[in-house]
Amino acid sequence: MTRKYNFSAGPSALPQAVLEQAQQELLDWRGHGLSIMEMSHRSPEFVSVAEKAEQDLRDLMSIPNNYKVLFMQGGATSQFSMIPMNLLRGKTTADYINTGDWSKKAIKEASRYCDVNIAATTEADNFTSVPTQAELKLNPDAAYVHYTPNETIRGLEFDYIPETGDVPLVADMSSTILSRPVDVSRFGMIYAGAQKNIGPAGLTVVIIRDDLLGDTLPGTPALYDYKVTADAGSMHNTPPTYGWYLAGLVFQWLKDQGGVDAITEVNRRKAEKLYSAIDNCDFYSNPVAHNARSWMNVPFILANADLDKQFLQEAEAAGLLNLPGHRSVGGMRASIYNAVPEDGVDALIEFMLAFARQHG
Ligand SMILES: *Cc1c(COP(=O)(O)O)cnc(C)c1O
Repeated sequence: MTRKYNFSAGPSALPQAVLEQAQQELLDWRGHGLSIMEMSHRSPEFVSVAEKAEQDLRDLMSIPNNYKVLFMQGGATSQFSMIPMNLLRGKTTADYINTGDWSKKAIKEASRYCDVNIAATTEADNFTSVPTQAELKLNPDAAYVHYTPNETIRGLEFDYIPETGDVPLVADMSSTILSRPVDVSRFGMIYAGAQKNIGPAGLTVVIIRDDLLGDTLPGTPALYDYKVTADAGSMHNTPPTYGWYLAGLVFQWLKDQGGVDAITEVNRRKAEKLYSAIDNCDFYSNPVAHNARSWMNVPFILANADLDKQFLQEAEAAGLLNLPGHRSVGGMRASIYNAVPEDGVDALIEFMLAFARQHG
């Protein structure tokens, strides 16, 4: 068996040590004679797994006690509708910052429930920059301010947390959670689909300040009500138990690596060396402003797009998988989440430089 380097944007690479542990425990979870997948979510065994996963995430992110951690389903996309349903709380308007494709999807969904005020957009420069704090036109009557700290498709990442005064800040951290430290107390709510930096698809993590629970829009389904989920310990119905278990293994793995501070240093190095390889070679380019370049998703284009197909074929032959850019933008994209080892980035850079020498 040879595992290749996986640069997929999502579902994406998982740490090999996590997959090995899951494999080893698959048939007989810790001597109980059955798989964790086959257990009741209400059994003491599964509840201990679930509680440990939550505690490890709380430790990793230093989540204050007045925040609930919810383990939900439906992906980040279902949060696009749950957010207005739960957070309008008697108001009729919300602020959204538009920095790309995922922001737009969140805006489109929220528009079904409220008046969306676009507090800022960088669409005019084709989403190659993030707005500055001074450029945000925030409405003091907004129920909340929503933004996407890391835009996965164009590789655009905020280098600051917007200041929103008393209006709760809501962040779609799907592709940046756990990649670097964040001060959770600055947010009303953080959410993330698991399949980038947490675990397998099918699990969504929500971190929400407890004063924001309750008072949902009329007609909100019980399963979409954060208070119902919080009161039931994320077990109002059967949760995605195997995803929750695997997320727990990833949290433990991250602790074993030294936690978020340690992985931050690795992530910084991985991103810096890949961007500098791109910037220092005429054959490759990335259009994003330097202060707004994502650490997790690194898009780049070849000087000659006719070579895209050959680049991808040869990369795959060299064991470098899933490098095509998103279908909406083309080119290439290397997603270098926590679980992509630094060796993988080194191998990618070596391949890119050799390809450029041959064809440049
Ligand atoms: C992947 C992604 C989503 C969509 O997640 P689903 O789980 O497919 O709904 C939303 N926002 C961002 C920033 C993403 O990277």
